[in-house]
Amino acid sequence: MALKLGLVGIGKIARDQHIPALAADPRFELVACASRNAQVDGVANFVDVETMLAEVKHLDAISICTPPQAHFEAALAALRAGKHVMLEKPPAATTRHIALLQAEAQRQGRTLFQTWHSRFAAGVDAAREWLSGRTLTGGTITWKEDVHHWHPGQQWIFEPGGLGVFDPGINALSVLTELLPGEAFVHEATLDFPENQQAPIAARLALRTEAGVTVNAEFDFRQKGEQTWDIELFTTSGRLKLTHGGGALEIDGRPLAADAALAGEYPRLYARFAELCAAGESEVDWRPFQLVADAFLVGRRQTVAAHQV
Ligand code: NAP
Repeated sequence: MALKLGLVGIGKIARDQHIPALAADPRFELVACASRNAQVDGVANFVDVETMLAEVKHLDAISICTPPQAHFEAALAALRAGKHVMLEKPPAATTRHIALLQAEAQRQGRTLFQTWHSRFAAGVDAAREWLSGRTLTGGTITWKEDVHHWHPGQQWIFEPGGLGVFDPGINALSVLTELLPGEAFVHEATLDFPENQQAPIAARLALRTEAGVTVNAEFDFRQKGEQTWDIELFTTSGRLKLTHGGGALEIDGRPLAADAALAGEYPRLYARFAELCAAGESEVDWRPFQLVADAFLVGRRQTVAAHQV
């Protein structure tokens, strides 16, 4: 039987990806939505999660698509009501929130799927396979996009807990942590804060692996023209380049054909959520979020020109 699902926070990503992915997946039935202002046709609509949980008794799961500042309370309420929970990235506003949610999911015997959608991009599995067994010598991440185009009017991104340029940048870190055979940490960071905002508009990180190899990352929200979401990794026996946010892979400059059978990121995310619910398991990996938190801890701060959302 299909899992009856409630969607929380109806904005860009809910409409662009979650609703179409759910509509195409027979393992789920979207029965309710909770959003302060927005409504979705054909389902029961509520202004908050608590009312949705109280009114729609037969819900099995909820999927949370609000900005990260609103994740914790919604996820906690749902787990305490005995529902499975899927969380958009970034997972929450603080790192302790995730630990507490993970513990609550375990106590309740429910699934917590803390997602990283970019790990489900078409080139990522093949890149991980190629890299395993090779020796990394260095790498670069270039994640540059136009915030006005991709996040129109989203003031929450520049508010405390909104992460600024790390909102997309954390996707690169989620892929990197998935690809590397070992662990990486923040060695140095510089964060550029617009003089009128609470979160960085650009950042540069030097990440180090346990083996002492440096991966330099550059994140920028002010990119005009060509948009870049690339990860390049160098090894003693060749180099890989993931472009389009992990969607395409080149080895030594030659494109590798994507697996045509592979579904898109969000259909794959929901397929994984269904598997986890059926198995009674959770999937939580907050290392990308810890890297961002550490960049805020050790990063040098620079003030840059004001930014209007
Ligand atoms: P969005 O367009 O601003 O939509 C989020 C919705 O959440 C809002 O429209 C709002 O609807 C609701 N909401 C609840 N609490 C809120 C609060 N405190 N502040 C602002 N809105 C609140 O944002 P989005 O682009 O969909 O992104 C949402 C999440 O998905 C983020 O964590 C983002 O990183 C992630 N994501 C986004 C994309 C993308 O391309 N945009 C891609 C992948 C992942 P109501 O006013 O009706 O409550």
